[in-house]
Amino acid sequence: MAPKHHPTPLSGGDRKALQKELGRARAMTTILAAQSGEARAKGEALIRQADKLLCESVNERLWLDGGPIDPFPTIDQAINGGYSWLQIECSRCRTKRDVDMAALRHPPTTFVHDLASRLRCSKCAKAGRRPPATLLQLAQRARHPDQET
Ligand SMILES: [Zn+2]
Repeated sequence: MAPKHHPTPLSGGDRKALQKELGRARAMTTILAAQSGEARAKGEALIRQADKLLCESVNERLWLDGGPIDPFPTIDQAINGGYSWLQIECSRCRTKRDVDMAALRHPPTTFVHDLASRLRCSKCAKAGRRPPATLLQLAQRARHPDQET
């Protein structure tokens, strides 16, 4: 943007007043930008807290009775909340597996339960079966070695 030109007033008093106004606007620009940055950082921290609490609520529900769970976090919400791992279990052979959602190529707006229902057990796939996975928990880190995604 081209710098804006303020025409110089003829009277000395007006010139002084203009200089004061320009200085005030300059200071306000800095102050408001800093306040905006602070508010945004606070907002982002609150969203992160909300995402973390949502993941914790999901885990309580999964432990309690397995669902139904509503609302369910999306992949990016779970990752933002610090829960980037899915602990799943094959509904057929009971093999447990940890999946790193950050490493998967799914749109971040995919719901975690939709993702979990699409994951298939590699052991059973070799036997020609495609049983659905059961979501056990969201996790902050891997518990079981991640064999395959
Ligand atoms: Zn299996």
